[in-house]
This record gives sequence, C-alpha cells and structure tokens, in this order.
Amino acid sequence: MSDFRWDPLKNTWTITANHRERHPREFFIERQQITMTTCPFCPGLEERTPPEVFAIRPPGSPTNGPDWQVRVVPNKFPLLRIEGHLDRHTEGLYQAMQGIGAHEVIIETPEHAPWLSDLELGQMVRVFQAYRERLLDLRRDKRFRYLQIFKNHGIEAGSPVPHSHSQLIAVPITPPVLKTELNACRSYFQTNERCLICDMIAQELTDGRRVVYSDEHFLVVTPYASSSPFEMRLFPLQHNHDFALQNDTELANFAVALQSTLLKLRSLLRDPPYNFILHTAPPAHPRPGLPDYWSSLANDYHWHLELVPRLNRIAGFEWGSGLHINPMPPEAAARHLRNTDPSPGL
Ligand SMILES: [Zn+2]
Ligand SMILES: [Zn+2]
Ligand SMILES: [Zn+2]
Repeated sequence: MSDFRWDPLKNTWTITANHRERHPREFFIERQQITMTTCPFCPGLEERTPPEVFAIRPPGSPTNGPDWQVRVVPNKFPLLRIEGHLDRHTEGLYQAMQGIGAHEVIIETPEHAPWLSDLELGQMVRVFQAYRERLLDLRRDKRFRYLQIFKNHGIEAGSPVPHSHSQLIAVPITPPVLKTELNACRSYFQTNERCLICDMIAQELTDGRRVVYSDEHFLVVTPYASSSPFEMRLFPLQHNHDFALQNDTELANFAVALQSTLLKLRSLLRDPPYNFILHTAPPAHPRPGLPDYWSSLANDYHWHLELVPRLNRIAGFEWGSGLHINPMPPEAAARHLRNTDPSPGL
C-alpha cells in the first residue's frame, strides 16, 4: 500500500509508494555529454571570469593569477546584481522590489573534473572554508536576508560546466522553504524546549531504518517523508545553527561524511545528477519593528545539508496539488545506499 507521510520540518506531504519494490537500476538515467573547447574555470584562464572575491592560494601568489586551490568569483551572468537599492514598492495589489543580490561561483578545485567526491579530504575542507568565508563576508550586508549555498551536479541538475563548482546566491528575502523550516523549528522549540532536528537525529539513530551513514560526528538519513527517490539529509550530531561558526575540525568531519555519501550515490545510481543545498541560519540582523528577528535561532535551528538526486520529473498532480509522489520508499533507498561501498572511480 501507499501511505501519506508528513514532514515536520517542511510541512509537506508525500505519497510514498510502498507497495512495489523498485530496483535502483530503474532510476538510472542516460547522461548527456558536454563538449567544451575551453573551460573558464581552469587555471590559466582567470581573465575569463570576473575578478575573484576570495581565493585560497599559497603565500605570495598574486590575486587572479593561476596558482590557486579554491577560487570564488562573481557569476559572469548573475541572476541578481549587488549594486543598488531594494526599492520595495507596490503596484496596486502587487508588491515588487529590485533584483538585488549576490551571485558567486565557488570553483572547488584547479583540476578539470566534475566530481566533488574525488577531491582529497583536505581540498574538500578548503571548499567548505570558502563557503564559511563568503557567508561571513556577505552577511555584513544588511540588505541580504538569506545566503544560499548550493551545488548543481550534471546537466539535468542545472550545471552546464563540467568543472566541479558550487554557487552562492544572496537574496533580500527569506526563501519560503527556509522560512517554513525556521518557523517549524522555532515553534517546536517553544512547545518542547528542544531542537526539532536534535530530536529527529535521536529518533532516526534509534530507529535505524533510514540511516545511510553514521559516525561519531554526522548522521545521513533518507527523510521519513522523502519527496523524491534517494533524497538525503546530512546532520552534524553536535547542535549548531550556523555553518559559518564551524571550525576546521568540524569542517573536516563534514568532509568525511559528505564524501562517503556522494561516493555511495555515484556508485549505486551511476553518477546521477544531483543538487545539494546548505541550510544554515540566516543573518539575524535586527529589523525595524522586529527587534527579536530570528533571535532564537541559536537554540532552535540546526544546520544541515539536503541532497537531492534528480531522478524523476514533477508532473501535473504534484505541480497542481503541492503533494509529492515518491516511488522509492526511503527505508528501501537507505538500505540500498547503506549496503553500497563508497568506492571512488566509476
Ligand atoms: Zn575546467
Ligand atoms: Zn539541534
Ligand atoms: Zn533543510
């Protein structure tokens, strides 16, 4: 039988098809090949990108020269522009504001290859250090209410450049998906005086059916009400609301868990396209008339990474109803992933 499952973090319902077990190979998709003559993210072609806003380089290495390890540049074709004012206004019943924001690309390695999971752990830590530095820098700009770091892997997940990179978009609103989570966590804390995600971690560890990976620092699960096949969440066991407060040791623990998870995914589903999204606390600048704006976050929010393989398409019922249909029960997805060796090199 199918069941309706509710996710307390997202306030969404998913219809999970439990009645027929599907094999992971039913989710394999043919990958399109991209051919590029020159890659703008490779070392030596730095003039093809806008000047860098951050880089990890050896001491003495000149800015915008080729000798970098991780490089962050503004997107050459930004979705949003950093200059200007929000200019909030109404048009009759409607509201609008200018497309102000920041859009940056984090080039994760000088090597021209598509896989974050192939980086050695020290290099993955450098990538996360770049995330941390950009979050700390951009949150000083009070126009931005949220800083979204995400990765698109594969053409079907929105990435036309086969050189491993992630992106950061700063926006002047709190995105609805985040707002739902933040409100769910705050309301749970107000009722229970406990963090919703800490409680979720404890329940998932006790239950065990949806555990993909666990060590003494991280837990990776397929969410109870996963809205798509092989969806995963990576949680640090130590309660912390803010990724930007993680020290280098904590970033190294995250690298171990993420690498293992990405390798399992790549091996089980033949390098599927995926997105990952870092969910961390928004900048909590007090707002006019809102002196307590997100002031409870340190207690009630818990940063995490959401990882979504792009294996199925949204169809009419999902689009029109907001109800998701998941043909792969998360317990079965977790079992397959748990039993997959994280072996590099597909
Ligand atoms: Zn390249
Ligand atoms: Zn927590
Ligand atoms: Zn989340």
